[in-house]
Amino acid sequence: MTTTHSSSSPQDFRALLHQHKLRATPARLRVLSMLQKHNKPISIQDLHEQMRSLAVDQATLYRMLGVFTQKGIVRQIDLRHGHAHYELAGEGHHHHIICEVCGRIEDVSGCDFEPFVQEALRHSTHFSRIDQHSIEFFGVCVPCQKARKRNQASSSQ
Ligand SMILES: [Zn+2]
Ligand SMILES: [Zn+2]
Ligand SMILES: [Zn+2]
Repeated sequence: MTTTHSSSSPQDFRALLHQHKLRATPARLRVLSMLQKHNKPISIQDLHEQMRSLAVDQATLYRMLGVFTQKGIVRQIDLRHGHAHYELAGEGHHHHIICEVCGRIEDVSGCDFEPFVQEALRHSTHFSRIDQHSIEFFGVCVPCQKARKRNQASSSQ
């Protein structure tokens, strides 16, 4: 399962911000390139952790990502970690599998939910359109599954 992630240069982010009538401040450019570099959904805390050199507090990051989400520049994802995660929206529509043990995240490329969406609309009494959906998968990754088996084996001896 691979996703083709676009490789936007800082110049592209400048254009992206202007396109959404946002000033291309160093902090905004830095956040966008951090999101691109990280390449998977990241929380505000982790983003803040990685941006220590840039004197931006968490409240500012929170506001910034709120604006980015509103504009459709980033996508907010609920990984059930108790706080929101964010990733660049420009990387194409995809879903995620999240390990319930260690939190590992893998992108799932492609999406076959269109028939389901049409079916949902057909049965809906109050909706005539669905604009977006967010579906995440939760499971156990291979290393955690192996560790689990090892633990089970050693505890049954
Ligand atoms: Zn895991
Ligand atoms: Zn993703
Ligand atoms: Zn989808």
